[in-house]
Amino acid sequence: MENSVSEIAALWDRILLKIKAKMNDQLVYDSFFEGSYIDSIQDNQMIVVANSGLAVSILSTKYKDMVDGIVHEATESNFQIKFVEKDDIKKTVEIKPVKPAFFADSEINPQYTFKNYVVGPSNREAYQASLMISQNPGKLYNPLLIFGGSGLGKTHLLHAIGNAVKEKFPTTRVLYVHAQEFLNEFIKYVQGDNEGTNLVEWFKNSVDLLLVDDVQFLANKPRTEETFFSIYNNFYSAGKQVVLTSDQNPTLLNGLDERLKTRFVSGLPLAIKPIEKETCESILRLKIEANGLNVNDFDPDVITYFATTFGKNVRVLEGALDRLLFYTVNIHQAKHIDLKVAMDSVSSLEGAEDAKTQLSEDKIINAVADYYSLAPYQLTGKIRTSQIAMARHIAMYLIRTMLDVPFTKIGMTFGGKDHATVMNGVEKVENSVKTDKALAKAVSELETRLKGREKTEEK
Ligand code: ADP
Ligand code: MG
Repeated sequence: MENSVSEIAALWDRILLKIKAKMNDQLVYDSFFEGSYIDSIQDNQMIVVANSGLAVSILSTKYKDMVDGIVHEATESNFQIKFVEKDDIKKTVEIKPVKPAFFADSEINPQYTFKNYVVGPSNREAYQASLMISQNPGKLYNPLLIFGGSGLGKTHLLHAIGNAVKEKFPTTRVLYVHAQEFLNEFIKYVQGDNEGTNLVEWFKNSVDLLLVDDVQFLANKPRTEETFFSIYNNFYSAGKQVVLTSDQNPTLLNGLDERLKTRFVSGLPLAIKPIEKETCESILRLKIEANGLNVNDFDPDVITYFATTFGKNVRVLEGALDRLLFYTVNIHQAKHIDLKVAMDSVSSLEGAEDAKTQLSEDKIINAVADYYSLAPYQLTGKIRTSQIAMARHIAMYLIRTMLDVPFTKIGMTFGGKDHATVMNGVEKVENSVKTDKALAKAVSELETRLKGREKTEEK
């Protein structure tokens, strides 16, 4: 990307203005954002110099989401923002790792930690086992398998394990991979895209801790399962830890190789159950504080209302809370948030009334994002990992088939893609559902969910 120095400076000034407008605490802005600037932009990475080590740490955690959102808004691209201290710039550039042969885009998300995971009866066992394993990888239960429904915190725990292991054992090479990503990489591998590196050997030599998310995606893929089986066996016999998640107990998964089923549940299989109301309420309080707000400004019945209405899925709960916070900061400008304000802020989410609640492009995008544990802006943005590209195509396909929106208009929704690109994406899904059972299942499940929503909302 070619950007002049002054363009970059102007961009950051614009971003700072937006941040300033959004922050309700001038002091926080002055302390941590003042004097920051973009050092460089390379591909998708934006290096931002902050005014102190503390500012780096605060901006990379507490304000990360806000900054990501505003940068996304200002640039219409998904930059990975890295905050550094001035003195660290040289080091950052020097330690840039060599691009690995496989899973080059895979990362442990530093935002998902044990510290910000709220524990209750529904997830306590899974949490405790994850914590123990990260203190003692490979020694206790292998594999650890966590299963449960969407939005219950499985992916969060996987990343928390990765982060804790990296902290305690900095030389351990940790790989997080979504099973869909594994499939995609495997397909490229079989097509000879890998410059001769053997995939099974690569895992054996390059990874010490393997975290695989959503293994249900491996079902009905015999060759991929075969390869995964070899990889798993190597880990097991070398005493290296494997942690897996699945949306249900793998023994019940249709189309999953019997040997894999047996292996997956041979260590410690643990369920996360639907999160109880009290835990949801604690999660809400934590997220409110994490946004720099005071829980006491919220009526207790607001918390209860959100927990009972949206608590089946923590991802949905977070979305509803974001909406409330956005609403109270930008639209209603309330200091004290009572039930009326809270209900108004989410009225369109619950499917109570009128035209604005009908099926829309937005709702399809949200549903697909939720299904693949992505944020909606990742679907409409420009980053192209294979998992995101796939989810993006599915969203385009559903918008086309369920709403009959013209390709050109869909292209506009997805960051200005042209007619042909959208058409290709839609056709790809159309063809793949015929042979790819997991994809067909995903698409039909999404259709059912969206139609179900349409129906209840028509009432
Ligand atoms: P899953 O992988 O089970 O679909 P995720 O781990 O992606 O769910 O969780 C969805 C969102 O909810 C994430 O942002 C995650 O941080 C949050 N979340 C889920 N459970 C908890 C919890 N117990 N405490 C705090 N945040 C949680
Ligand atoms: Mg997940």
